[in-house]
Formats: sequence, structure tokens, C-alpha cells
Amino acid sequence: MAVQRLCLLVFLASVFLCAESKYRVYNTTSGIVPGKLNVHLVPHSHDDVGWLKTIDQYYVGSNTSIQGACVQNVLDSLVPALLADKNRKFIYVEQAFFQRWWRDQSEEVQNIVKKLVSSGQLELINGGMCMHDEATAHYIDMIDQTTLGHRFIKEEFNVTPRIGWQIDPFGHSAVQAYLLGAEVGFDSLFFARIDYQDRTKRKNEKSLEVIWRGSKSLASSAQIFAGAFPENYEPPSNFYYEVNDDSTDSPIVQDDINLFDYNVPQRVNEFIAAAVSQANITRTNHIMWTMGTDFKYQYAHTWFRQMDKFIHYVNQDGRVNALYSTPSIYTDAKYASKESWPIKTDDFFPYADRVNAYWTGYFTSRPALKGYVRAMSAYYLAARQLEYFKGRSKLGPNTDSLADALAIVQHHDAVTGTEKQHVANDYAKRLSIGYTEAEKVVAASLACIADSTSKIGSSNPQTKFQQCPLLNISYCPPSEVDFSNGKNLVIVVYNSLGWMREDVIRIPVINENVVVRDSKGKEIESQLLPLLNVSVAIRNYHVTAYLGKHPRARPSYWLAFSATVPPLGFSTYIVSYTKRAAATSERQTEYKSESNQNDTIEVGPGNLKLIYTGKEGKLTQYINSRSLVKESVQQSYSFYSADDGRVDLQASGAYIFRPNGTHPIKSVGKVTVLRGPLLDEVHQRINPWIYQVTRVYKVKEHAEVEFTIGPIPKDDGIGKEIVTQITTDLKSNKKFYTDSSGRDFIERVRDYRKDWNLEVNQPIAGNYYPINLGTYIKDDSTELSVLVDRSVGGASIVDGQLELMLHRRLVADDSRGVGEALNETVCIHNECTGLTIVGKYYLRIDPSGEGAKWRRSFGQEIYSPFLLAFTEQDGDDWTKSHIPTFSGMDPSYVLPDNVAIITLQELENGKVLLRLAHLYEIGEDKDLSVMSSVELKKVFPKKKIKKVTEMSLSANQGRTEMEKKRLVWKVEGSSKEPKVLRGGPVDAVKLVVELAPMEIRTFVVEFNGKRTTTKG
Ligand SMILES: [Zn+2]
Repeated sequence: MAVQRLCLLVFLASVFLCAESKYRVYNTTSGIVPGKLNVHLVPHSHDDVGWLKTIDQYYVGSNTSIQGACVQNVLDSLVPALLADKNRKFIYVEQAFFQRWWRDQSEEVQNIVKKLVSSGQLELINGGMCMHDEATAHYIDMIDQTTLGHRFIKEEFNVTPRIGWQIDPFGHSAVQAYLLGAEVGFDSLFFARIDYQDRTKRKNEKSLEVIWRGSKSLASSAQIFAGAFPENYEPPSNFYYEVNDDSTDSPIVQDDINLFDYNVPQRVNEFIAAAVSQANITRTNHIMWTMGTDFKYQYAHTWFRQMDKFIHYVNQDGRVNALYSTPSIYTDAKYASKESWPIKTDDFFPYADRVNAYWTGYFTSRPALKGYVRAMSAYYLAARQLEYFKGRSKLGPNTDSLADALAIVQHHDAVTGTEKQHVANDYAKRLSIGYTEAEKVVAASLACIADSTSKIGSSNPQTKFQQCPLLNISYCPPSEVDFSNGKNLVIVVYNSLGWMREDVIRIPVINENVVVRDSKGKEIESQLLPLLNVSVAIRNYHVTAYLGKHPRARPSYWLAFSATVPPLGFSTYIVSYTKRAAATSERQTEYKSESNQNDTIEVGPGNLKLIYTGKEGKLTQYINSRSLVKESVQQSYSFYSADDGRVDLQASGAYIFRPNGTHPIKSVGKVTVLRGPLLDEVHQRINPWIYQVTRVYKVKEHAEVEFTIGPIPKDDGIGKEIVTQITTDLKSNKKFYTDSSGRDFIERVRDYRKDWNLEVNQPIAGNYYPINLGTYIKDDSTELSVLVDRSVGGASIVDGQLELMLHRRLVADDSRGVGEALNETVCIHNECTGLTIVGKYYLRIDPSGEGAKWRRSFGQEIYSPFLLAFTEQDGDDWTKSHIPTFSGMDPSYVLPDNVAIITLQELENGKVLLRLAHLYEIGEDKDLSVMSSVELKKVFPKKKIKKVTEMSLSANQGRTEMEKKRLVWKVEGSSKEPKVLRGGPVDAVKLVVELAPMEIRTFVVEFNGKRTTTKG
């Protein structure tokens, strides 16, 4: 009906207005034409999952004074535009938006969209909830957020995305290529942002498109076809057709000869010229035009109308062939060309878009948000395990809302810290809401297991567990109770790792006379450390700021004790009052202040000793009596004054690090040493806004440095970027190593790039790299490793030294669109001060070749700290009425030292998603870089495994199916490739999973019989 009426209108209009004119039908049927230059027009919209506006504001189109973008418009107008011509195509990327829209649609529209997807007119690519960042996102978070999107797409549309589309992230990680690309089953990966010098060279050599082999260990078995765009992810200039957008003035194709300004020949010539120019820097006769950009297609017809005409007239002209395409069609065409491609290894960091503009500031921007994301990531991992033990509840509480918040915050303008302040607040709010719900899951599951000796059972657990998310600022109401009136505190310590593990726990307490017992009633060694004024001030201020109330209790001490916890399980400890004050204080309260009188101060109750000068309290030596390492080491702070952009308009900002002068921070020299049986602490007031505590534990051979930085002053009008340096005599010869998204270590060479001759214009900012796990340097005899608790930027600016950027506060915007200076504050009743952050890093020195064990195993412990739950003892003996220790695995079993469980999650359908990760690279450690194996029967005791299916990394297709479809690309040069080690198929009877170095294997596990809650 509608179509007929339209025809009639057109007919009438032509009769009355102009006898000559007739309805024009554009021929858009063109496919690929061999022998011609094929211009693949790829219509797309880049929809940031939050940036200048929050995700929801972008979706509904509100807050228009900031930006007019409305994703609902994009998707609403897309459907009729695609229906109008079956040759038109579109790709959609961001599942967080797509799912919001999908939920809003009628069944009728949903059915239409399903048809558009199955016909290939609408292709869902990338397919994660967001287009995650690659520098500041951890690989576990990248996997989780991709899985969430991919499984939805599989369930609703029964398709698996084929293409990685990381067009906007600011540099690209090796992990993205091999893990989130090849191991997900993508056929290719496209992006736009690579260093401007690299881009120039690649254009000249026609090497923007490569075979990217991101992993040394998995090598050719996990390589992927990857393409960097010649300029950006927009159309060539002059081919840009957004409705009501006067920012780019592209001439429309005026093809009605009865109207003025007929321009078809001119526009066709311009089209062909732009195509030929791109073809000159591209291999094969296929080029891609990315037809769209940020939040475009608000009214999709404006773009399609022009593209229809271009395809019609350009193909009529015949010099080149234009077609509606997608990255899948483009990839298939490249593959069919049988061309050989250059190999790319390592990654594309750091990114500079022009001279003096290194996007290395965002590695550290918003360190508190980055820390929060990492803490929530670990919590989510643990909470899903506990959710599985208890049994998932669809109606809630469950971990879904935390999953969603964590997925969204991996976006390349979220965890990066490059969003506006109100948007950063929105991400934090989502995490907080998600956490609050997951906290209930954790409490219920622990109670369920702990109470399972009682008759009531786990359906209605009696124990109410509390948790302390603000423990990092020494706030924990359940532990801040007066034990002298007979209350006992029960602490359940959960370990989400697959290994037995020992770690020192600390909680704030009021009483001095306390004793800690394990679940067998045995008194265990503990230590009281006074809660110093600086900690109390931070605690009181931030509790008031976050919770709107001043904390009531006034704890005087940290109570520290060592907890030993089985894999995927918990141990219970009881803290109670004791009258034997003298005896206990002798054992527990061994601390004293030392003034700066002696020559040296030696710190450390175990193998590791740190030596400080007595006079100024400067760290001078690191001595390990077991490994016989004795190394000179210094640690210092300095700040870079941030360029304000007055000279050449390039300021330091949320994205860009542009230092303008280095300023060492001279420590004021006041040192307090606290000593005890478990650990020693060195407290240092570095300056009025930097405080540092260095901890050396009896049973650990690394130093833990806790820094408190802020508020960074800016009353001099100068932004400041705060760094710490660890300096040794190691002859590191310009080389240092940083991790790729928390996984493989990549060699970095100062002032050097493997892929081109680097022109050094920013000797500091241009040598910064993202760090998620850690960094190290080495020489023939020794290696120095530093591990971090969140993503930060780091470098080795001089030999023997590692540098981390810990905090930044700026006064100017760096002109990349965010339009705000990165100036974070904390406020109480509208009174704001610069943000103070508390964080940790860990350092260790090993004989050369021995550092990997610590970096990998302890690195995993940093990622997954113990989860603590508290309750008061509800009777004489908690342990008699409760399950005091628990392991989800067979009690006789632990995972091998080189394997971690990175996902254990009950899916909607009752099946279980399991991911196992080998933690070592090939050749990284002499004992642990070997094939390893995991016995599934022991990971799931008391269960009968019915079926184990190996899946792609994002669990949206069978691994075998994925491997069958894998494209085998031709590679330039030598074809001698060593055989890659991979674990073999899982035998259905033995159920043993093999893992080769750096391998991650994903399984869906099904069990026999009705699900019952696991008992202790
Ligand atoms: Zn973006």
C-alpha cells in the first residue's frame, strides 16, 4: 500500500512540476568486480558507550547542550533505510546500545531485524558490550565484556561476529590481536589509530594491512589479518552526509538536470580520484571507505541516499566499481586475492597522532577509577565462583548488574579516564550498584556453605555476613567493635585462586588486647600496628565524602595476621578479647619509632632486608639472604609540570602526556619504622601531599609500597603529573619489558621502534607504555620487577631505572574533544579538594632469569586478593556449628603453579562456563613454561560431568567449528614456521585439560542430575 501511494505521488509530482523528470531508480546491485578497483562502502556509526554524555544520555539523546547525539535515532532510522533497498548494508558494533534498543522493540520489529541480520544487510561486528580500550583494560575484563555481548548475539540471532572493529582505541595491544581477535574466532581486525610516523611508512610500503602475530608463544596459530585505516575511521573528506550537520560541507550528488547545480560528472570524478589515491597505498584492488563516524546516521536516509547515487553513477562511469559492503565482504575479497601480507609482531603502543602528541597520559588518568575497576574485576571473578557454589538466581540477587557495569567501563573513554567528569561519576555509580548486588550474592553463598551443617540448610542461611569495600581507607565497621564486652569477630577469608595461598590480612580494631585463632581454635601469630594520624584523616574525610556520615568508631590499630586458605575456598578466623595483655602485647605490639640517629636502618623480619640511611631515611639497598641478591636501590618521587599548550597549542591532558620540565621531589626526611613478627613498615612523609608506607613481610621476598598522593596542588596554575622512580645499578641497556593488557611481556627499547626509524621529539612521553600487570628490567646477573595494582603508565627513562606515573592533575584540556581539564576532586557539601589516591606497587629483585615466577604467581594474587566477610560469633563456638573451611575443589587437589581459573560461572541454562589460563610464556621460566594439565574431575568433585565442550574464547561457538573456519593467510618472506605447542583434545573419560604456554581454554561443562548446592 505505502509503496503504491508513494509511486502515485511521484508520478503526480512529475506530471505537475516537470514533464521531463521521472522517478529515478538507482542501481545498487553491484557486487565485487574482478579486475577493477573495488571501493567497499562500509556504512557505520561509532557510538561511544559514554564520553561527553553518559551511556543512557547518548542512548535517549538527552543532555543536548553538550552533544546532540542520540543512538535511538540511529537504530530507529536504520531499519526503514535498510528495508528500502536490500543492497544497502550497515554494521553495528556496540552491544550496550544495541541491547538497550532491542529491549524497546516490538516483536514485529525484532523479527524484521532478525531477517536483516540473517540476510547480512545488518551485520553485528566486534560484538562486545563496548569497544574496549586496549591499554588500560585487563585481558580478563576484555574477555568478560566480549563474552557478554557475543553470547547475547548468539542467543538472539544465532550468529557469531566475524570481525574485530577497534577503530577508535588509542593504540592497539598484542592481546587484542591474538587473544580478543584470533582466539575469539575473528577473521580480521580493523583499527585507525597508529603512530603518525608508523602510518607514513606503512602507506609508502603498502603495509597498513598485515598479518599480526601478537603472541610469541602461540605465534602463527593465533595470528590475524589486521588493517589500519589510511587516515581515520571517517569517510574521505567530501563524502560525508550527516543530517543537519554543517561541520563538514560535502556536496550532495545533484542529479536532477531540471534543478540548478547538476554535478554528477564532477562528483563521480572526485569519487574516482579519492579511490585511486587510496588504492595507491593499498595492496590488491580492494579498498574500504568507512562511511560514518561518531554518532552518525541520526537520520540514516541522508547517507544512503547519497551512497545509492554514487554507486549508480560511478559504476555507470565504469572506471572503478563501488559497492555496498561490510568488513566481512572486504576481508573475504582480500583473502580471495591470494596476496601475501607482511608480518607484524608486538603491538601498536604508544600512539601519537602528530608531533609532540603522545597519547600516554591516559595510561594513568583517573587512577582512582582505574583502581576501582580492577578491584571490581577481581570481586566479580570471585563472586561468580560463589554464585556457582550456591546456585544462580535469575531473579536475583545475582552478579549480572556488576557484569554489565564492568563491561561498560572497559569502553575506550571509560577506564581510560578520558570522559567528562559527570560521565566518570556515572561509571562509578554503576559499579557501585553492581557491587552492592554482588555483595549480597557473596554473603548469601558464604552463609549457605558455612551454615550447611545446621538443619536449616542453605535455602535460608542464618549467618549475616558483612563486607568492607572501604577497607583500603581503614574503614570496616564490623571489625571496629569493642571486643572487651565479649563479642567475637568471625572472619571468613575466601581465595578465588586455584592454589593454596597464604597472605597477611589487616583489619582496623579498637582494642589492644585481641587474639586471633584459626578454625581449630589454635592461636595464631598476629601483630598490631598503630593506625597513624595520616590514615585516620584520610579515613574520616573519605567516609564522610562517600557515605555522608562521619565514622563513629575510632580504631587505634591495624590487626595483622597471616591467613592460609585452600583453593577456591575459605578459611575462618576468630578475633576475640584476651586479658593476657602483657603477653599479647609483647608478641603483638612490637613497634617503635626510630628517630634519624643511626647510620643505617635495616628493615624486614624475614629473608628480605631493606637498608635505609639513618639520617634521611633513604632506601639504599635490597638484600635477600636466600637468593643472595644484594643490590643497590633508590626510590624517589618527582613530578612533571604539564605543558599548558600556550606555545604550540598541545597541552598535557586526559589523553596526552606532554611534560614541560621535571621536578625532583625532595623527601622531607621524616621516617617512622614499625617492627613486628609478621612485617615491618617504613612510614615516610615525602612532602605535604605524598605519604608512603613500605612493607616488608616475613614470608614474602618483595617490598610492598603503599602510596598516598594528593591533593596535588595547582594554585600555581600548573598541572602536575606525579611519578616514582626505582633506581638500581642494573645495566639494562635501554631495554625494559611491559605487559600487554596484563598478559604477554613485550620488550621495549628506549627511543626506538622496531617498525620504523623513530624520530624522537618527546624523549619522556614517547617512551611511556601501558602497564597492567608489571614491568621489569634486567642485565646479565639481576632483574628488577615492579608489579602494579591497577593500570598505570610507565617507562625506563635511564638505564637501571623503572618509572611509574601514579597520579595526575591538570589545568588544561588537550584538544581531543573531551573539553575539560583532568582535575578530579572530592567534595563534602560542595567544598572540594583535589583527589587523593591510595594505591600500591610491589618490587622485587631476583637473580637473572628467576623473576618470572614472582611476576606471574604473585601477579595473579594481586589481581585476586583475598575476599573478606565478617560476622559476629553467635554462640560459644562458631566452628562447631558451622563449616569453618571449605574448598570447591577436591581437598587433595590444587591447580598447577602455572594455571589460573579465570572464569568459573554458572550460565543461565545451568551449564558452567570454565576458563583456564596458562600464565607463562614460552621460554619465560625454566620450570613453568611447560605443558600443564588440569583434572576437571577434581575441579568439580561430587559432580558427575556429563559433557565438556571446548568453545571459542567468547564461548559463542564450538572451538572445532571455529578452527574449521579459520582463514589461512599467505605471509611474506620465509615460510619456515616452528610448530606451535597447544594442548590436545579433552578425552571424555579422563577429562584432563592440557594447557600450553599462554594458552587460554574455554569450556562449557554440563553435569548429570539435578543441581544441588555444594556442601562443604
Ligand atoms: Zn570512540
